[in-house]
Amino acid sequence: MDNADLEKLKVSQGKLVPKFKSSVTSYSLTVASNVEEVKFSPLTADGGASHVVKGADGSKVVKLTDGKPVEVEVIVTAEDGSTTKSYTVLTRRLSADDATLAQLDVSAGVLQPPFSPLVTRYECSLPSGVDSLTLRAKTEDSKMTVIMKTGEPVGTVPLNPGRTLVELAVTSVSGKTTSVYTITAVKSRLPPTLQLKEKKAQFECAVCCNLVHLPTRIRGSAGVYCRACLEELTRTNKTNPITGEKLEGENWLEEDLACDSELANETAVCHTATGMVETSMQQIGAKLQANRIEASKTEEPTESCGDCSKKVPSQDVGLHKELLCPAKHTVSLPKTQVKPRPWENRLVDESCGSDPQDLLKKGREWETKYLESLPKPGETGHRGRGPDPLECLQTAARCYGTALKYSPQSLEAHISLGLVMEEFFYAEDFFGLKRAVPDTAEEGEAEISSKEEEFLAICQLHGVAASAPLALQLKAVEAEYHSLSVKSSDPTACFHLGRLCLLLGDKEEALKFLRNSLAQRPTHSPTRLCLGMALGEKHAKPLLWNGLTQYLTQLQELHESRRDVKQKDLHSQAFYRSTNTLIAEGFLQLAGIGGHKSLSVASCLLAATAFLPEACILRRNCTYRQLQWLSLQARSLLLSLLQKTQQTQAALRHCQELSGLISHSGLESSPKLRALQMQVFQLGVELQPSSSKALCHLGTGQLAEHEVAGDKNSLCEAELSFRASIAMEGKPITADNIPTQLAEEQWWKKMTQGKTGGGEKKEEKKATPPVTASGAQKTAQKSGATAKQAVTGARGGPQTGRGGVAQPAGGRKPTGGASRQPTKPVGRGTTTAPGRPGQTAKTPTKPLGKTVATLGELKTGAGPPKKPIAAVASKSTESVKTDEKPPSTPNAASPTPQQPAGRAEINTKTHHPRLGLARILSKSASSDKAKLEESRSLYQEVISMTPDLHDAYIELGEMLSKTDPVAAVDAYARFPFSDPPSFNDAYLHGEIVRLLMSSENYDDPRLLTSLVAMGRALGIGVLEKQVSVLENKFKTDLLKKVYSGVHGKPIDDPDLQAFFKFKCWR
Ligand SMILES: [Zn+2]
Ligand SMILES: [Zn+2]
Repeated sequence: MDNADLEKLKVSQGKLVPKFKSSVTSYSLTVASNVEEVKFSPLTADGGASHVVKGADGSKVVKLTDGKPVEVEVIVTAEDGSTTKSYTVLTRRLSADDATLAQLDVSAGVLQPPFSPLVTRYECSLPSGVDSLTLRAKTEDSKMTVIMKTGEPVGTVPLNPGRTLVELAVTSVSGKTTSVYTITAVKSRLPPTLQLKEKKAQFECAVCCNLVHLPTRIRGSAGVYCRACLEELTRTNKTNPITGEKLEGENWLEEDLACDSELANETAVCHTATGMVETSMQQIGAKLQANRIEASKTEEPTESCGDCSKKVPSQDVGLHKELLCPAKHTVSLPKTQVKPRPWENRLVDESCGSDPQDLLKKGREWETKYLESLPKPGETGHRGRGPDPLECLQTAARCYGTALKYSPQSLEAHISLGLVMEEFFYAEDFFGLKRAVPDTAEEGEAEISSKEEEFLAICQLHGVAASAPLALQLKAVEAEYHSLSVKSSDPTACFHLGRLCLLLGDKEEALKFLRNSLAQRPTHSPTRLCLGMALGEKHAKPLLWNGLTQYLTQLQELHESRRDVKQKDLHSQAFYRSTNTLIAEGFLQLAGIGGHKSLSVASCLLAATAFLPEACILRRNCTYRQLQWLSLQARSLLLSLLQKTQQTQAALRHCQELSGLISHSGLESSPKLRALQMQVFQLGVELQPSSSKALCHLGTGQLAEHEVAGDKNSLCEAELSFRASIAMEGKPITADNIPTQLAEEQWWKKMTQGKTGGGEKKEEKKATPPVTASGAQKTAQKSGATAKQAVTGARGGPQTGRGGVAQPAGGRKPTGGASRQPTKPVGRGTTTAPGRPGQTAKTPTKPLGKTVATLGELKTGAGPPKKPIAAVASKSTESVKTDEKPPSTPNAASPTPQQPAGRAEINTKTHHPRLGLARILSKSASSDKAKLEESRSLYQEVISMTPDLHDAYIELGEMLSKTDPVAAVDAYARFPFSDPPSFNDAYLHGEIVRLLMSSENYDDPRLLTSLVAMGRALGIGVLEKQVSVLENKFKTDLLKKVYSGVHGKPIDDPDLQAFFKFKCWR
């Protein structure tokens, strides 16, 4: 009786969208441009019901006009006469000028955003193994035409290795309108070991020097970058990663599609574990995928050991018999004294339950919840969606801790707890998830600081200075040690212990655990890799090779599948991940011992640098910086490889890029980093002795060296380098133009004398890579003590130093209301205690190169300057062939006739060498009037060249304030302050206030201006001290003006007047 449903709704033209269903009451219908009417034929579900088609003038036929949609309503009235239901069909007759698509499908991947006729731009992410994309497009009206913009019919498009732009042109029936739909297909990265058969500089990323992925440029600057590399390095610091120039505006980033399509036609070769693959770049992804799948079907051959009857991988049989076989060898494990840890007791939570098995299961569940709630790449911190990841992890830890209370012998609980404790470290380091209450609270102060020191030393050992509190990591280690007391020979426990020992830089200890572990599980791949890292050269190669190819395979698999694969294991457990620094170190180590099978030295080094673009999910903490450091090391090894093979042109380019990357890396100073940068900077000058930029880099390195070592020689040489850099400005970069200042430097004399000694000697020198991985490891172990010393020094000031990349100007930034007075910059080696080397040595925290680092643009990439390279090339060949040259002019090669001098690149004038020189001179400014004057005029020159460079004002002011406070105020006051004043401005204002107040110069109008600016930037509370001084001096007029200025109210404002009255300021 009351059934008002329709059973069917037929239309004479077109199709209802969605398909008709009784319960759905709203539809749309689009018909071709030549259709003039549509007949609607409803059929009611109940025979007694009636219907009416509105908009059809009583009939069922609706007339349509061009392009104008009509809402057709079908009203059904049930037999009872009162129940009604209405179905609507939005009916549109296409205009003859309509040029929209009705449907667009792709054969792989998913369109982003989802298809909609009115959206014309799409992106489609694809795995690396797809080599073509097939498109299917439909229009509402079959008379509309759709073709590729190239003129071909819509169909299959071959894909570039990175980005491919596919454009579809849709033309209306009338032929009058055409619209274009674009789909940008973006493929994942190819394996880092892939190289072009014929190396070409224009396809090499300036940062990771791998084949460029999604080629991107900085507008107006040379050099091509992987999109990920460029985005990564400019994430927090909007400067050119090579030149340090500011990136202005929004449009500095430029995608280079042409580069991608050129790359597609190149021939690539890839050495894989199963052999070499060679084909075009366009097809190699698919071929490698097929190859990998084929290879995964064959298992690694194993043999049974005759002594212990274990199955051992055939390649490891020798090692097994010699070192591991449990029938022949017993390894005594290090004994550790285990004390009950207060933090462990705190983990016991009776409310979790008491059945150990149940608790373990619960723990796993919380681990899973933790992984699911972790921030996704690109997200910052926890967004309050879903459970808090740290709480999940904490609950998991409590489950395991409680399980241990009831079952203290449970190995699984011990290991699980250890892994979770380690995970706290990753949660903080990778994602910035920090526990509010440190667990160390109950431990003695002394204990904590000694632990911190130990950790800092460890980080130093790894080449990275630490800033994050790493006590968490130590706890993980302890937990695992603890577990050992239960059953010390368990292979899983031994593996994790060995792995942690490697992370902490203790190879000897690691070796014991790993030998023990691999003896029991001879095929466990991560253990094999770790053991390879702990072993000497003899057996290391096959072990390292096995683990590293395993990693590469997994990386390839990741890029062949969708990127958003869910993480299943804790980071501490997932060994083969691109955020594991051990693997990057493994690559360097294998490179250091000459590579193995499919992993040549160059392949290893390229794989090591490729960790950087993969690390884009990481926060800039310990792990990130360590990967950055490893990547710099890899690049310097590549550089020496190029030198060794006499590829001078490539060496020059690499040297320029690497110099820039080191200078702008933001890594904190460490002996290893300084050694590396001096090597690179010296080489830069060696290759181009007349390049202002190279000389300036060198000066920066020498100055940094001086600031740590406090030696006079470095300071003198730095001064010479900067002076040479300035002297060469405006002059062409040629090989025969050696600045006189450079010829005076000790290292240069030695180097050139070495050269004239004979080509043989030079060859020998070049044959030694600057830092071989194994060499570095040795020094690392030896320099344990020095590292610790350096660390103790570093503890003198906040670790942030001058901020580095992660926190630009962090050291100087006054921290809001917390600090009364904007804090002085820390770690500014040039300004802290000049002339007192002991003190200077204690401030090594300054990020290297930051002093003069922002060097002017270096010509990199595709079009390197012709003349200097020709000159350099001739120089290098000459130094090998002809040995008889006077030491003073080693490179006096006659100008190459085929290169007219006019074509040489001219050194541009920049502020960088002036700033460096000014800093050096300011060191002896207090005792030497002439130096003070020169330094002062240099600073002023720098300021006139770059008026917004805070550092120059601060340093000039600090230098002058000792002898001439008024001049210092003049210097500060010249800064182009912004309105409203920024935090950085507040520092300068603070200095002006300090100087004027201490010289009791209350009537200087700049005192009022600066007090007001400070109050506005940091709040009136920051002026408390000054206000009370001024009150005592009865400077009430000034005070009134200050309050009026800070609050932005006129002096006669009633509120202010009341306040002044209350203060008795008359
Ligand atoms: Zn790159
Ligand atoms: Zn055996």
